Amino acid sequence: MSASPVWHPFTQHGLQEPIPLVTRAEGACLFTADGRRIIDAISSWWVTTHGHAHPRIRAAIADQAARLDQIIFAGWTHEPAETLAAGLRAIMPAELTRVFFSDSGSTSVEVALKMALGYWLHRGEPRHRILVLEHGYHGDTIGAMSVGSRGVFNRAYEPLLFDVETIPFPARGREQETLDALERACRSQAAAFIVEPLILGGGGMLIYSADTLAEMRRICLRHGVLFIADEVMTAWGRTGTLLACEQAEVVPDILCLSKGLTGGAVPLAVTMATEPVYASHYAQERSRMFFHSSSYTANPIACAAANANLAIWREEPVLDRIAALSRRQAERLTALSLHPTVINPRTLGTITALEIGRPGGYLSDLAPRLLAYFRKRDLLLRPLGSTVYVMPPYCISENDLDHIYEAIELACDLLRSGELNSERSLVALENVR
Ligand code: PLP
Repeated sequence: MSASPVWHPFTQHGLQEPIPLVTRAEGACLFTADGRRIIDAISSWWVTTHGHAHPRIRAAIADQAARLDQIIFAGWTHEPAETLAAGLRAIMPAELTRVFFSDSGSTSVEVALKMALGYWLHRGEPRHRILVLEHGYHGDTIGAMSVGSRGVFNRAYEPLLFDVETIPFPARGREQETLDALERACRSQAAAFIVEPLILGGGGMLIYSADTLAEMRRICLRHGVLFIADEVMTAWGRTGTLLACEQAEVVPDILCLSKGLTGGAVPLAVTMATEPVYASHYAQERSRMFFHSSSYTANPIACAAANANLAIWREEPVLDRIAALSRRQAERLTALSLHPTVINPRTLGTITALEIGRPGGYLSDLAPRLLAYFRKRDLLLRPLGSTVYVMPPYCISENDLDHIYEAIELACDLLRSGELNSERSLVALENVR
């Protein structure tokens, strides 16, 4: 048993994996109490965009904390939230006129689902069936799990999850199957279709085409089914554009944003909605108000951080940095793809992904071995089963990127020679630094 009382997420404490103590972060690096410099190759669970401890975001947080730290948001408002909502309206698709605040990606999804059901109920034609994409991941609250793929992650809670209709993932060459299934499902009065645009993150960095995304949107429009874009991972430049939806010229009815909304510094989320979705809740009757809140809704400090993020997007060449990183990522992936153990190398914007060795699920034996190996190399890389992906902050240096890809290549070599598979290898890995 660990001496620490802390119970970590997605961590099996029984395996006694070391849990490094991090004391500081800057740019693309984390610094540990025992003096190590770790390269954050996954942007600390996909949140850090411009880099850790960005001076403008840090300053905005400090300044706001000194002025107004927290205020109930039901019936009250404050300047950071108003500025942020106006700023989001200015850069997001014009149709998304309303901004509802919450605290995490999962809650932004819960809000989206509740908005969709409220929309149909208040129009007098209640619908509650939600369509989802196979392999989707939308978070770990009950509603978000219900619309995500089922498996070992949520088996214990399955009796509580609501039924959804799953549309097959549009794998290359099989897109028509997806579109046909969606068309059929839409015909029977579905309330909404929720998707991660262009790339399914938690499902294993699975990429599909912008044409398919556009066609899925058109099908939903034809049938009046609300289209929810979960851009919690994909927004803020991750896929090369501010929103992934842009690449398919898709405007959703409801949009979920979190992670990079504050540049990754503090938790905050928004669910943006079109005027008809808002209008369906707008009435003289209190019974039609939108019944959702949490204590920290629109926390002023988090909103100030997000305003600083928006200022960075307005005033700095963020898209140029993203384009440069995307190019560098693609080049390194191309070189790595020559390795015989690399399967299905793929890239989208600033993200690269591949499988090494035989494909395996999330609980494949390979993942903890890779994790231990990367940790020894002072790298924060967290494979999803046998899927290794690289999703760094946009400020990462050439040297650090080289170090990441050299380590992945060496992991491929070790796997090929059998060293990564054997018990002995974990001991051997102690010496690989
Ligand atoms: N939606 C997507 C697409 C995600 O990738 C995630 C998290 O990775 C979530 C929702 C849940 O976000 P959070 O972990 O902030 O609750």
